[in-house]
Amino acid sequence: MLVVEKVKKYLEAIEKDNQKGKKINAILHLNPNILEEAKVVDEKVKKGKAGKLAGIVFVIKSNICVKGLVANCASKTLENFKAPYNASVIEKIKAEDGLIIGMANMDEFASGSSGETSAFGITKNPAALERIPGGSSSGSAASVAAGFCDVALGSDTGGSIRNPASHCGIVGFKPSYGAVSRFGLIDLGMSLDTIGVLVKNVKDAKLVFQVIAGKDERDPTTRKIEPKKDIKKIKIGIPQVGASKEILDLINKKVKEFCKKNGWQETQIEIKHIDLGIQTYYPINYVEFFSGTRKFDGRRFGKKIEDSCGKEVLRRILGGSMIAEEEFSGRYYKKALDAKKLLEKEFEGAFEKVDLIVTPTVPRLPHKFGEKISFEDMYNYDTLTVLANIAEICAVSVPAGKIQGIPVGVQIMAARGKDLMLLEAAERFE
Ligand code: GLN
Repeated sequence: MLVVEKVKKYLEAIEKDNQKGKKINAILHLNPNILEEAKVVDEKVKKGKAGKLAGIVFVIKSNICVKGLVANCASKTLENFKAPYNASVIEKIKAEDGLIIGMANMDEFASGSSGETSAFGITKNPAALERIPGGSSSGSAASVAAGFCDVALGSDTGGSIRNPASHCGIVGFKPSYGAVSRFGLIDLGMSLDTIGVLVKNVKDAKLVFQVIAGKDERDPTTRKIEPKKDIKKIKIGIPQVGASKEILDLINKKVKEFCKKNGWQETQIEIKHIDLGIQTYYPINYVEFFSGTRKFDGRRFGKKIEDSCGKEVLRRILGGSMIAEEEFSGRYYKKALDAKKLLEKEFEGAFEKVDLIVTPTVPRLPHKFGEKISFEDMYNYDTLTVLANIAEICAVSVPAGKIQGIPVGVQIMAARGKDLMLLEAAERFE
């Protein structure tokens, strides 16, 4: 099929169900030049000169800069902000002829786990319409699950790629910290943020990851990824974690089947302080977010953030400003950094004994719209995903099955830099 034809099909699907029909509300802005750009790619294909991503149609989370398109982080603060340049990942995607069809809805400034904090309306879960799609990459996950694109880019600070991938029944991959450049990402917590992919299958994740990964002089935290090695006998570690019984039963059953099929080994492991993820994550997130948002004072970009943002963003700014103060920082932020180091070490130790660590991606099923949940409960959606960000390792969520008709994902984690090994293993899990 011509790339133009494929793009037209996606545009039709978006027209039918994004704002009308099922009202998924996954996409906030379309790329007005997409058909022209698709024609150019078709020409290149004809001449045999097309890049590795020719014909792949992307939706991009609205906190990643795509030159000329609105990158508003689903916030009134940046409502009409058009990105003046391309993020490094976008440059790389375009250089390989990937096409960008539009910008995704999300939780405001990537602060949330449900897609409900967007200033431009909730996103529905295409796999369970009356339920949240998860977040904060809500629109990215829903776009893939609704058939609006092939691949979506998201950002993951504490689970924002894996959480919605799990709830929407797709694959979500968070690379190791530093594997993918963050240049051009509007940050949430810069020591935890990673850009990654939401896809229909692991094969697509591998393809796109290999294009966007690698060292970038504009992001000094980037480093080379480890080359792929053949995986033979894999040892899987299963730590004890808190999650609903039905989810734990499903995941355990899947892991057993998977190990049997591949001749891999599974073993229980202990990771000390594994229950401290949330307490470690939020002080760091609040302080870094507070500091990152100081540029939104209304002079250079959009409106002053405190005057224009939603409740959750304001909670983080006020909380972050307080715990960043000299008198409190020793009590919260520095302690959280110490706890981060501790968890990093624990995971390093665990990966000396096993190759992969497996848990559910999310400990509970996604709630229904209208159901009131406390902010603490909202934070607890991420108890199992924040661990990989804290330990700077790579992790992927792969569909494991359904409970009451709602998708449930299994999270597979590997040591920092072992991204390709992880994807190779995850492919067998599918
Ligand atoms: N839900 C978490 C938070 O609200 C994670 C967000 C993310 O990964 N961007 O901070």
